[in-house]
Amino acid sequence: MERSFKKEVEALKLGDGETFRGEGILAVTKALLQAGVSYVGGYQGAPVSHLLDVMVEAEGLLGDLGVHVETCTNEASAAAMLGASISYPLRGAVTWKSIVGTNVAADALSNLASPGVIGGAMIILGEDYGEGASIIQERSYAYAMKSTMWLLDPRPDLPTIVRMVEKGFELSEASHSPVMLELRIRACHVTGEFTAKDNRRAAFSGVNRLAGPPKFNYARLSHPPVTFLHEKLKVEEREPAAQKFIRGEKLNEFFPGDLADIGIITLGGLTNGVLRALERLGLADLFGNSRVPIYCLNVAYPLVPEELRDFCAGKRAVLVVEEGNPDYVEQAVNTELRRSDIQTRVLGKGMLPKAGEYTSDVLLAGVAAFVAKVKPATVDADAVAARQRQLTAHKPGAAAAVGELPVRPPSFCTGCPERPVFTALKLAQREIGATHISTDIGCHSFATLPPFSMGNSILGYGMSLASAAGVGPNMEKRTIAVMGDGGFWHNGLITGVASSLFNRGDGVLVIMQNGYTSATGLQYMPSSKASRQGGAAGMDIETTLKAVGVKWLRKVRTYGVAKMAETLKEALRSAERGLKVIIADGECQLARQRRVRAEDAAKLTRGERVVRTRYGVDDEICTGDHSCIRLSGCPSLTLKPSPDPLRSDPVVTVIESCVGCGLCGEVAHAAVLCPSFYRAEIVKNPSWLERTRHAVRRRLLPIGGRPEKAAAQAPA
Ligand code: SF4
Ligand code: SF4
Repeated sequence: MERSFKKEVEALKLGDGETFRGEGILAVTKALLQAGVSYVGGYQGAPVSHLLDVMVEAEGLLGDLGVHVETCTNEASAAAMLGASISYPLRGAVTWKSIVGTNVAADALSNLASPGVIGGAMIILGEDYGEGASIIQERSYAYAMKSTMWLLDPRPDLPTIVRMVEKGFELSEASHSPVMLELRIRACHVTGEFTAKDNRRAAFSGVNRLAGPPKFNYARLSHPPVTFLHEKLKVEEREPAAQKFIRGEKLNEFFPGDLADIGIITLGGLTNGVLRALERLGLADLFGNSRVPIYCLNVAYPLVPEELRDFCAGKRAVLVVEEGNPDYVEQAVNTELRRSDIQTRVLGKGMLPKAGEYTSDVLLAGVAAFVAKVKPATVDADAVAARQRQLTAHKPGAAAAVGELPVRPPSFCTGCPERPVFTALKLAQREIGATHISTDIGCHSFATLPPFSMGNSILGYGMSLASAAGVGPNMEKRTIAVMGDGGFWHNGLITGVASSLFNRGDGVLVIMQNGYTSATGLQYMPSSKASRQGGAAGMDIETTLKAVGVKWLRKVRTYGVAKMAETLKEALRSAERGLKVIIADGECQLARQRRVRAEDAAKLTRGERVVRTRYGVDDEICTGDHSCIRLSGCPSLTLKPSPDPLRSDPVVTVIESCVGCGLCGEVAHAAVLCPSFYRAEIVKNPSWLERTRHAVRRRLLPIGGRPEKAAAQAPA
């Protein structure tokens, strides 16, 4: 991809005793190499996309170590990769965004966890929970419990994260169970340093291959009747082995404090927030030395009963800090203490909210409420409560003073090729009326926000067409499903297209072919024009659709708004029954700009001619009704006061960020708006003919034209 990870790749090469500095997710990547993995795979998604992006660019280094990297087409294929660790002493790691990715991977994970593993198997989850998350608010904890996999939730501190990766593989091997390593957004992006170790070449890998398969062993399959045995092994052998390892290796941490009759049990990932709340309340110092003893669960699942009992013995009350619902850890703590007849009072939800991210202020309020409730002997609980009130008292006043802030919903990039499709859809619906639109995951889901506000359902990545299957037969008009090319290869081809053809569906599918999985940071996919190996993979959406039997198929350039609107109307009105697919073709503008900028810079260095296209609005012609903004939503279109004193409405203007995609001109034409848009070409290193033409124009234009327009058309 155009973005370079050269600096990050250099960090992966650090050896024994050298200091690694950087973000949490890069530290995980380095730790995988230090742990001697033989294979790595995954599907991109925030906040862990970086891991795979860097691995892909580190091919040379990984080749030397014999590490195979697979850029999987979805999370299910990534999870299935871990099957290598079932029968072979191979360490492997895969990564994806959770909870959605874990949902996709669930089948393979169950089938992996049942027979268990010989080589360490690790799943690195980008836990996208809380403010700023882009997905459904659920947690991965339930998957760990139901499949008996261990869930690591390291304290956001680089040495701890790295240790948990390395020890995680050992835990997996000691207990023959896969391990999940959960990284919240803040853990992925926390910065710090750790002392690196040499990367380890695995005993078996691409440079020292296995001689052959082991002797056939039915017990390594997740197939009855051995699945009944696996279930017993999980509870009778693997879980006790894991608990023994966690305890022996001290994976969980205990922070002492002088307020010995109370304590806080926190998930590792929330520890920094808890310490910050304690510090703000005067119960810890800036270096994390707390007056309240803390039991930090770097392993969120399973709990270790002996550790829990040791921590709670002699305490009047503990606070369990666990984000989200249900309160799995709090329930488990209660159960274990009651079973052991330890009468420590367990507080958690109630002091802290049942749902939502535990931000700094939420934790501040929760810890203060806990202190007020349990009233430690040597602490002035009233003073702590007053401190919490004082720390937050200014907020309502500040909010009132600022007033209501304008919302800033995310939107398509300037010049995005997907925006014009929704403009065309808006125009088509003006004529034929609204119909059900099932939308999907990807950049095109920005169309669910203003100014388009289109879409009636989102059921998952690549699931839009499948999710219209029940609506279509019950709706007068044909339904429209929108899917990206990333979603098509992720699973839309099978769950949507194949299913629709198989069931003789009659809907319309619009596939946004922008050439990349753009929303996750611009990764290549099967139909990209390039791949990490260089040339294209040779897979093509149009050919694939024809091969599976799609008869009604059109490929339309996305910026051709009028043509796109006509094609949509044709698909919705056609007497021909069956699935109708429109491939909306236009390269992701973000990727295009990165490429073009680099190409143009190189041309300028060589003194070659470079043309940049910009659009502008003639304020004398602009009527001020702003339909162009409502129809395109381009962030480069904005308002400015009218220069005409007789007109009070602001006029539209195009700002510097315009990339000259041409959509505004197309919209003005297709929707028959005022002809106020003009196109300008800014030419660098112009030819002698262009210079001469410009000189002549400059002499003539002040007579009949306007000087600012002449400047816009000038060579630079
Ligand atoms: S990343 Fe590409 S496809 Fe996504 S909104 Fe930006 S230009 Fe459009
Ligand atoms: S040409 Fe128009 S729609 Fe395209 S980027 Fe410029 S202002 Fe936006």
